[in-house]
Amino acid sequence: MASSIRPARPGQIDRASQPDRTKIRRSIRAWFARTARDLPWRTHPAGSRPPYLVLVSELMLQQTQVSRVLEILPRFLKRFPSMESLAQAQESEVLSAWTGLGYYRRARHLQAAAQAIVRDHDGSLPSDPRAIRALPGVGEYTTGSLASLCFDLPIPAVDTNVQRVLQRLYVFDADPKSPKTNAWARQQATELLTPARSQSKKKAPIAIPDPVPGSGILNEALIELGALICTPRAPKCDQCPLRTNCLARARNLTDAIPRATTPNRRTPVYCAVVVIQDRRGRVLIEQRPESGLWAGMHQAPTLERTDRPPRPKEIKASVPIAVLREQSRFDFQTTHRDLTFVVYQAEHRPGARVAVSGRQWVAPNQFPELALSSPQRRILANAATRA
Ligand code: SF4
Repeated sequence: MASSIRPARPGQIDRASQPDRTKIRRSIRAWFARTARDLPWRTHPAGSRPPYLVLVSELMLQQTQVSRVLEILPRFLKRFPSMESLAQAQESEVLSAWTGLGYYRRARHLQAAAQAIVRDHDGSLPSDPRAIRALPGVGEYTTGSLASLCFDLPIPAVDTNVQRVLQRLYVFDADPKSPKTNAWARQQATELLTPARSQSKKKAPIAIPDPVPGSGILNEALIELGALICTPRAPKCDQCPLRTNCLARARNLTDAIPRATTPNRRTPVYCAVVVIQDRRGRVLIEQRPESGLWAGMHQAPTLERTDRPPRPKEIKASVPIAVLREQSRFDFQTTHRDLTFVVYQAEHRPGARVAVSGRQWVAPNQFPELALSSPQRRILANAATRA
């Protein structure tokens, strides 16, 4: 739909023609009631959902596709059915159960949050948003989702999807990565969640203590709308419950808002992985450093460089073996890195000291107990079939 109306200036909204919040609330709630996906963490209506389930699923869903979480969540909950069981588990068990989700720091944060809840709150998620925000790994977004989905508190849960919906709805043309834009979006979302309350900007939304019926549903509906309908490219405006309220649609600006940002630079990483087996078929395993990518996880000895592939001489210096045979290679991507794996097969020479520096021989039937990244799991699965 073409329009001659000019967009708001960058970072400003056109206050004269702001969409009606009452209509937005009504439309999006009705749409969500009709179309909400049947997802395993939606066991109870938003606003009265079991905190442990929300905590686990929300941390899994950060930067991860729903389809992947659907695969992993049941297995994780079977292994750790309660806050207490997660708090008491070995970290390596938690990382192992997290395999396939990536961003393993989230798994550590999840367990640390469970431990803090058990230690400081008798095992129950606190309902005070400030106490939720103080939990390890819980930022503004997760505070909003936990507070609203579990306790119906009117705390906004603004992720990039929700921010995009709001920027389009109000034609807020500003850098989507700017903290000011996020603060603006949180203010808009707070006002959507608190219809009966006077909108005092002096009062920090995180301090609002009283439940407002429907806050959880509104937050969840906005998240769903951003994920499924108001997508970054080619939003499905014809299916959108807010199409008659949306300024970006009315002004033909859905492609321009939010404005494009410079993509993050990706780092190439060249990985040489050495698979060494002893006569009993056990494989040499080491642990990664405690910080950085896949921190603390296990792997076959791996040498990494970001400037060029490691040379055979360098590989042999890091793992004292004589012969290297290239066996396979494959590429793997994380959000910020392009990794190239070259897998070498090396035979253990009796007498050569390879199980040093924290390295140990591990039998293939113990691989499922190791915390492994996806590429290392793939490499070791191949090694196991050869053992
Ligand atoms: S009408 Fe289109 S641009 Fe506007 S909120 Fe809906 S999907 Fe997004």
